[in-house]
Amino acid sequence: MRTTQFFFTTLKEAPADAEVISQKMMLRAGYIKRAAAGIYTWMPLGLRVLRKVENIVREEMNAAGALELLMPAVQPFELWEESGRGPAYGPELLRFKDRHQRDFVIGPTHEEVITDVVRRDVKSYRQLPIHLYQIQTKFRDEIRPRFGVMRGREFLMKDGYSFHTSFDDLVREYGNMYATYGRIFNRLGLKFRAVAADTGSIGGDGSHEFHVLADSGEDDIAFCPDSDYAANVELAEAVAPATPRAAAAQPMAKVATPGKTSCADVAAFLTVDLAKIVKTIAVVAEQEDGGKKFALLLLRADHELNEIKAGKIAALGAFRFASDSEVQEYLGCVPGFIGPVAVDRDKVAVFADRTVAAMSDFVCGANEAGYHLSGVNFGRDLPEPEVFDIRNVVAGDPSPDGKGVLGICRGIEVGHIFQLRSKYAKALNCTFLDENGKSQVMEMGCYGIGVSRIVGAAIEQGNDDKGIVLPPAIAPFAVCIVPMGYHKSEAVKAAADQLYADLKQQGIDVVLDDRNERPGVMFADMELIGIPHRVVIGERGLKDGQFEYKGRTDAEATMVAQGDIVGLLQ
Ligand code: ATP
Ligand code: MG
Ligand code: MG
Ligand code: MG
Repeated sequence: MRTTQFFFTTLKEAPADAEVISQKMMLRAGYIKRAAAGIYTWMPLGLRVLRKVENIVREEMNAAGALELLMPAVQPFELWEESGRGPAYGPELLRFKDRHQRDFVIGPTHEEVITDVVRRDVKSYRQLPIHLYQIQTKFRDEIRPRFGVMRGREFLMKDGYSFHTSFDDLVREYGNMYATYGRIFNRLGLKFRAVAADTGSIGGDGSHEFHVLADSGEDDIAFCPDSDYAANVELAEAVAPATPRAAAAQPMAKVATPGKTSCADVAAFLTVDLAKIVKTIAVVAEQEDGGKKFALLLLRADHELNEIKAGKIAALGAFRFASDSEVQEYLGCVPGFIGPVAVDRDKVAVFADRTVAAMSDFVCGANEAGYHLSGVNFGRDLPEPEVFDIRNVVAGDPSPDGKGVLGICRGIEVGHIFQLRSKYAKALNCTFLDENGKSQVMEMGCYGIGVSRIVGAAIEQGNDDKGIVLPPAIAPFAVCIVPMGYHKSEAVKAAADQLYADLKQQGIDVVLDDRNERPGVMFADMELIGIPHRVVIGERGLKDGQFEYKGRTDAEATMVAQGDIVGLLQ
């Protein structure tokens, strides 16, 4: 590629609202352009990176025996009703009606669609096992899209689904995928860790997440340096023995009264119990009042958790619910919520204001009588909240495997594998005839990789003050040729064109910067966009038969004989 034939759109400054380094750099380097919150255009430069990641994922999935297919992005809502996931999935699921008033969703994931495909076409044990995957655009209406492509609403995922005659065979394929994911993240040149993950409401025996280690990650990982124990803190907390930090919330001194809840009531609650509630992450405090039972719930939305920790939560809201099922329905819609606890009648939930804002449509629809106290101003309406360490598991705690103490680090979830067992197969009646002609429900696994998130995560790990630093396997170009005076010196132009042709012939992904720009501009651009190898061609070097070579992170350039350069870059 020649830069004059390419479309570069680098910026001097990142937009002010960009929060993390990868987001700033991807915008500055012109990898992506924002179209709406959490929705991006991949520009030609960024798309090269995305495609390289995608191809590594595809090659390894194919090598592992999975078969690629492509499912529709738009899915009939009936399938979600059949699986029972429709109501529970909540507002992250983008629903719409077609011109015939039929309900559809834009797929956030494809368990239902794939199970529908398999139940129609797979009849016999002879056709199993089968593993089908796709690399496709997903849509999740995230409460808080942020961090650029790392938490987008529209994003690219590799999602694979395997179907088996037995649990043993599912475990075998799960192991195959665990190993495959390791190969993929190694080839991508990422520092990563596989961690045990909570199987949540789905149950089953196995789930692992693959995390790219980076301080900007939204997850905490507990790991034991003296053993191979590593788990998402959510899981570590679920199995951790109770510690003083995990003490249950005490009954409230004063409770909210249905219909009469005021800021002061909430404040009284907060001053008494926020510490305990926050420390135990999400807790219910209950109190009897005139024979009625009330509950206050602190909802934990994952991304607000970090803000509570950082003391950034600006306001709280309270909701009242009329019935248990309403609470259940509501809570099913709140990502990251731990709980709920059953109580008898009226319920009040207290949680972060941002969630209130995002959820208020839903609540108004579900419960006309519901109300909330949003926009509360700390210091004015309520006391300033204290900041607590809300983790149940902290560095220095004993490792659950008894082999040492835990460390805690931050991770970005780039992959997730799951033994679904028969959850979807059962709901959608996905069966096969076994050797004895008996009908049996299939065992199922699912395996996701956040292809577009990986690009952001890789840049979180690879950057410096000059810009993006990517491994050659996923950099937009592996090599750049920067000629000093391409438009002035015949000798420089001839040498640059020749090297460009030679490298291309060797299959090396090379870009020739043939713009009529000052060297400083060309160097800065090539560094910003993350090209791992740079060859500078100047008249002086040519006189000695030399090019100047510099690796992206090398402190100094070195002179290399013209004849050696192709070998060096291979
Ligand atoms: P998270 O905990 O970050 O919300 P998730 O657990 O909801 O992710 P999965 O359902 O496990 O995500 O989806 C598989 C993979 O898709 C994730 O491991 C992640 O890499 C990627 N992914 C999920 N949500 C997003 C998003 N909003 N933007 C980009 N990638 C995403
Ligand atoms: Mg999610
Ligand atoms: Mg997750
Ligand atoms: Mg996940």
